Amino acid sequence: MPFFVSGCFDFVLDIAIHPRYALLSHHIMKYSSLAALASLVLFSSCTSPTGSSSGHDYWGHRPGPRGFTTVILDAGHGGKDSGATSRWTGQREKDLTLDMVKRIKSELAGSFHTVLMRDSDEFIELDDRVLRANRQGNAVLVSVHFNSGPQQVRGPETYYWRVDSHGLASRLQAAMENVSPAERANREKVRRRLRLTRNPEIPCVLVECGYLSHASEAQLVSNSDYRQKMASALAEAIRTQAAVGDAGTGPLPQPINAPPSRASDAPE
Ligand SMILES: [Zn+2]
Repeated sequence: MPFFVSGCFDFVLDIAIHPRYALLSHHIMKYSSLAALASLVLFSSCTSPTGSSSGHDYWGHRPGPRGFTTVILDAGHGGKDSGATSRWTGQREKDLTLDMVKRIKSELAGSFHTVLMRDSDEFIELDDRVLRANRQGNAVLVSVHFNSGPQQVRGPETYYWRVDSHGLASRLQAAMENVSPAERANREKVRRRLRLTRNPEIPCVLVECGYLSHASEAQLVSNSDYRQKMASALAEAIRTQAAVGDAGTGPLPQPINAPPSRASDAPE
């Protein structure tokens, strides 16, 4: 299936690596070598390539975290940026993401220190979200979105870039698939360099909890019981990652030294 433009404009023209796009990946790997060289020149003087006691790591070329104590929950969009709006239910992505992070926070209560990137209908620039995430130590970031695309496409999708985010991404995607009745007509788990998957110095994953553009999925998402099930499953995935790290999530992906994602890369 070709790439399509997401209605919430998170991913347009960005770089993705997915098994279905093996040929594309080959070219990306060539690009990555050049990018690695450039990145080292640009950033080696001001950042540490290794981790620190706070859990911060510029590249994230290490196994996924275990024993983290803080979970940053980022409700996508907000304020003047509504994200996608469902033509079927009229629901706006920014409202649904805020609803979801509050549910996940409740599910995690008592297990973690949780930080909501926003707890109201507030616009926050993506780069500011990265800066806020980097203030937290021993933490992971989960950014919550809903998707939009061609009407027949449905199902949850998960985006990650860093090696240390692969295990958590796998768990979050599996958790959503367990709740969603969707056919596999989507991209599932995708390695993609976005500002919220590449730029934070902590493990970071972006989840798309379903397609607001799909008639029956939009109806499902409008049901609060369904959203609660999805939130509960996502929280359980986070707890499992903290308990056992990457165990059981398969081989780690190759490290890629790509530069930070910039606003000029793509409309987000
Ligand atoms: Zn979005």
